Amino acid sequence: AGGRGSGKIWLRHYPKEVPETLRYPDGNAAQFLTDAAGKFPGGEAMEFLGRSYSYAELAKRAARLANALRGLGIEKGDRVAILLPNCPQAVVAYYGILMAGAVAVQTNPLYRERELRHQLADSGAKAVIALDLLVPRVEAVRGETAIRHLIVTSLSDGLPFPKNRLYPLKRRREHPGLKIGYGANGTVRWSALLRRAPDTPLCEPADAGTDLALIQYTGGTTGVAKGVMLTHANIIANTMQTTAWFYSTKEGQERYLAALPLFHVFGLTVLMNQSVYLGSSLLLIPRFEPKAVLETIRRKRPTVFPGAPTMYIALLNHPDAREGDLRSIRVCVSGAAPLPREVQDRFEQLSGGRLNEGYGLTEASPVTHCNPLWGFRKPGTIGIPLPDTDARIVGEDLFVELPPGEIGEVAVRGPQVMKGYWGRPEETDKVLQDGWLRTGDIGWMDEDGFFTIIDRKKDVILAGGFNVYPREVEEVLFEHPAIREAAVVGVPDDYRGETVKAFIVLREGWQVSEMQLNRWCRDRLAPFKVPHRYEFREALPTSLIGKVVRRELRESGPQATGDG
Ligand code: AMP
Repeated sequence: AGGRGSGKIWLRHYPKEVPETLRYPDGNAAQFLTDAAGKFPGGEAMEFLGRSYSYAELAKRAARLANALRGLGIEKGDRVAILLPNCPQAVVAYYGILMAGAVAVQTNPLYRERELRHQLADSGAKAVIALDLLVPRVEAVRGETAIRHLIVTSLSDGLPFPKNRLYPLKRRREHPGLKIGYGANGTVRWSALLRRAPDTPLCEPADAGTDLALIQYTGGTTGVAKGVMLTHANIIANTMQTTAWFYSTKEGQERYLAALPLFHVFGLTVLMNQSVYLGSSLLLIPRFEPKAVLETIRRKRPTVFPGAPTMYIALLNHPDAREGDLRSIRVCVSGAAPLPREVQDRFEQLSGGRLNEGYGLTEASPVTHCNPLWGFRKPGTIGIPLPDTDARIVGEDLFVELPPGEIGEVAVRGPQVMKGYWGRPEETDKVLQDGWLRTGDIGWMDEDGFFTIIDRKKDVILAGGFNVYPREVEEVLFEHPAIREAAVVGVPDDYRGETVKAFIVLREGWQVSEMQLNRWCRDRLAPFKVPHRYEFREALPTSLIGKVVRRELRESGPQATGDG
């Protein structure tokens, strides 16, 4: 098995600048940082609210942390969790953990106790590096985990001010409990820990193909979150594959707008690792807030901006956005969710750069597909597989490839595909066989080898016996001039089992009635796909990465709020 599908018909659409195959170094993925510090010691590695770090400084700090972790008894293969928003310490933490030979467990600062408890306990993390404001949450679950060391940092640790001026004292007083823990029961301040540790270089050798770099949790929105095991080789490969795809980027010269969260694997690979691999500058945005992002764009003129559709939408629609703001941006790749055509067009007009859609999932580190940035592309598709990546559409049998045009599940294979789920061999066996990964996404491939995602298997609505793919209905709604955002879900219905419901966010100053929307959809969709219910909202619930949380909409109940 496995030999089929090597037809790779998409290769004829590769831009000549992109190789079909790459050579990946063995060893520790943190060598990207060691290499950049060697080549560009004085180059800007990252910038955070006006504070700039050189590569030499970043590498030194990461080495200090690695030595400090060793000093705390962290050994090769031990898990160390990170609970931080985008800030310099998040970058230092990731590289420091890898340099120590440990495995980074990325957790989301928005997690509630239940989610945090599960991930800390499931991963068996021995230490956690957390933002001070989140410490009470860690303390609350710590007893049920193997956490021995809690390393606490404040946003001010990443800023130039000796006494924090951005986060004045008043703010700290709100958390008097924090002080208590310091020094006691294995709790230590980041700044004290780093100050005491030597900065002698340390980069634990790794067997890239087997040693883990990362455990990244996914699937938490339905059932229990699973830890995806990513090896050093996975991270090295996807960083190099995506960099090869962005081939016009130049070493030492780019500025990456780091608006995606680094604790999500998309941000980790395409922002942090790619920027460091290229010796470029990472412009850290602590939380996606369009006004602040626009300010950073004006001040720092980023050249590369990987993002999620909601981010591009928010910037385009912000009243503060001025003509010319986006002009420095040349390369954008949108992933995580479908990119509406109209958003792509408008963003390209305003920036003069390229915004193309790609695709991936945590289990693939994450990127597997992308439209060529320059040259032949097909808007509305996720493009073609990256170098060394194979993909096919399958049905029940993972090894029988369906012909072009037929709808089935997307399966992928390549050096970026995970080792498996942490501690869940049966779950791993369900999705991974002979290097082929079932993605859980429904789609099809055309005669040129371009793939289109129709929907996630589990989001498909079964209305009166018909399959309705939410995305298709959303596309139609998006084309309506009054609509800024739309999400479609299935809601229980006595008669049809499930029926189609649309959640709508209107553009400012626009009005539209349910009847008008209904007519709009009827003209463009088969009757069974037309939404039966509409609900107008000020905003849609989105995850930090910018995915609309359809589950939340489904569970939000039948009541209609707002009137648009
Ligand atoms: P995660 O592992 O949480 O990053 O989620 C991965 C999932 O995001 C995929 O399985 C897809 O369902 C979805 N996804 C990613 N990129 C796209 C895209 N360009 N279009 C549609 N869905 C996408």
